[in-house]
Amino acid sequence: MAKSPKTKKTKSGGETRQFQAEVSRLLDIVANALYSEKEIFLRELISNAADACDRLRYAAITTPALIEGDSDFNIALTIDKDARTLTIADNGIGMTHDELVDNLGTIAQSGTSAFVEQLSGDSKKDVSLIGQFGVGFYSAFMVADMVNVVSRHAESEETWRWSSDGKGEFTIEEVTGEDAREGRGATITLHLKEDETEFTEPYRIRHIVKTYSDHIAVPITLIGGEPPKEAADGEGEGEGGAEEATPETINTASAIWTRPRNDVTEQQHTEFYHHVSHQNDEPWLTAHFRVEGVIEYSGLLYIPTDQPFDLFHQDRPTKVSLYVKRVFITDNCEELLPRWLRFVRGVIDSEDLPLNVSREMLQNNPVLSKIKTGLTTRLLGELKKKAANDADAYTAFWGNFGPVLKEGLYEAFGDRDALLELARFKSTRGDDLTSLKDYVERMKDGQEAIYYITGSEIDALRMSPQLEGFEARGVEVLLLTDPVDEFWLPMIGAFEEKTFKSVTRGGDDLSAIKSGDADDETKNEETSGSEDIDRLIAALKLSLGDAVKDVRSSQRLTESAVCLVADDGDMDMNLERMLKAHNQLDAQSPRVLEINPKHALIKQLSATTEADGADAVRDAALLLLDQARIIEGETLADPAAFARRMSAVMQKGLSA
Ligand code: ADP
Repeated sequence: MAKSPKTKKTKSGGETRQFQAEVSRLLDIVANALYSEKEIFLRELISNAADACDRLRYAAITTPALIEGDSDFNIALTIDKDARTLTIADNGIGMTHDELVDNLGTIAQSGTSAFVEQLSGDSKKDVSLIGQFGVGFYSAFMVADMVNVVSRHAESEETWRWSSDGKGEFTIEEVTGEDAREGRGATITLHLKEDETEFTEPYRIRHIVKTYSDHIAVPITLIGGEPPKEAADGEGEGEGGAEEATPETINTASAIWTRPRNDVTEQQHTEFYHHVSHQNDEPWLTAHFRVEGVIEYSGLLYIPTDQPFDLFHQDRPTKVSLYVKRVFITDNCEELLPRWLRFVRGVIDSEDLPLNVSREMLQNNPVLSKIKTGLTTRLLGELKKKAANDADAYTAFWGNFGPVLKEGLYEAFGDRDALLELARFKSTRGDDLTSLKDYVERMKDGQEAIYYITGSEIDALRMSPQLEGFEARGVEVLLLTDPVDEFWLPMIGAFEEKTFKSVTRGGDDLSAIKSGDADDETKNEETSGSEDIDRLIAALKLSLGDAVKDVRSSQRLTESAVCLVADDGDMDMNLERMLKAHNQLDAQSPRVLEINPKHALIKQLSATTEADGADAVRDAALLLLDQARIIEGETLADPAAFARRMSAVMQKGLSA
């Protein structure tokens, strides 16, 4: 067959333009991809066509003239074996000249730019990324060496043709006269590469559409699929062949959430989830429901298996699409879910909102706020079930989304109890996560509080000296490493009337807790040599002055000589460090230095103070404070002075 016209230079004012550099790079990879699932290009193009129909349907609510005379949306696939072409045509909103240039020459903000950011240049890795992200329109170049897009925007009289071989440039020219489009929409013609003729096989196209695009609510028709014959060994041939060039509808073409729950297969859920989420993992949880009563809506919501890449974006956008009576309204309705459920994807279809609802009307809308409450309760209920029935799966979920749910602990007063029940924590007990309920059941006799420690690294937390006394008494301590922990804990205060208490703040109330196997040493500690300790404490205070708030004898320590704690009512040390790191706090408040009266070094220092007076322990005092800071992972104000004192002490030790 004759090749399609080469588009080097065009007549009639057409112009040739360069692709944005990122697009060229992307196309290079896409065109040469040895990717085994190239068929996803069709999913991407159908998805764009369906979006274009959705957008026009929405615009036509306020401007019905836009679809007058052509109100049945349709996506038509035409195959031509002789010409080796596959055409995807829709009667959606179409594109203007500028939109063609912008949309098909640069990279939009959506999934594609995230993809390009991750491109490494290592072709193997990059190809696997294609599978994960899908690269939208550009994936056409996996199978085609020439792509033409002929489009007319619904509000324009002009038809424009965009074409490219994917090698650095594209051309754009106006199409006039007989070739101009009669109606709006976009027609994308793929001139298939020599070895991609499978995409002109009707059974192959039927199979791909069934697999990836069955959930698309717009009918997808196939034209040029000759009647099925012996050669056609694909499935789905039951309905008998179409007559020559008669369009044959090849998808179910009803909104998936309107179908009875049992009629939707797992595979169909997965594909629909991919479609709405632009993610490539499997749904971890699927909630398909219909609510009837005062307000009516149906919904199909998914919780992803993996963390979406923008989960911790500072805008915290929620991403559930809103439909009204099957008509797409918006895919960024912020009013459907609280931000702490922003990892949920899917669709809500309301029967109560007017079709011509404007984006402004969505704000503070009473119907939406009822739906939001309903969805929140439903999702928390589903999570509770999952936590009870499949603890391992729930642990994986919590690892991904726990930090986000915890935001709800300080944002959502009404959901706190449910969230506390769902929360899981690492603890000193081992590697498994624990619920608060289980923690409370394991509390020791005499233990009044739920103890916790916060920090940024779990391994560092496990080695914190402040834990020693608790471990010695068998008291479990929760290990919290999410920044958000610093914020919800003060808001919540207590669980089942047990207050949360940081082990790095305030006095330790360990003496009330009976150790499992009565440890005499621990009991006697206060009585033995308390005068010596008092003398040492006075000497340390004298040496340290304003650098500490206080010096106290500690029950918290068993192995270490010293540690730092924040005083009751002062800010938690970890929070202080976090705020300092974000420049939200200038000065650090002085802490309490606790000393371990049973530690050999402390005993010796006591003896030295008694014999030689307070001045004799001055250097040691400063070294102890710096040591405590280092254990906290903090930097020293004067590391040189620390090194000098340290060297002096070592020298003395070696020459003794
Ligand atoms: P994405 O769909 O992720 O935005 P694509 O590269 O697939 O990225 O498409 C880029 C843009 O081109 C779309 O966002 C849309 O605005 C426009 N577009 C693509 N296909 C069509 C079409 N069939 N009709 C109208 N606009 C389209």
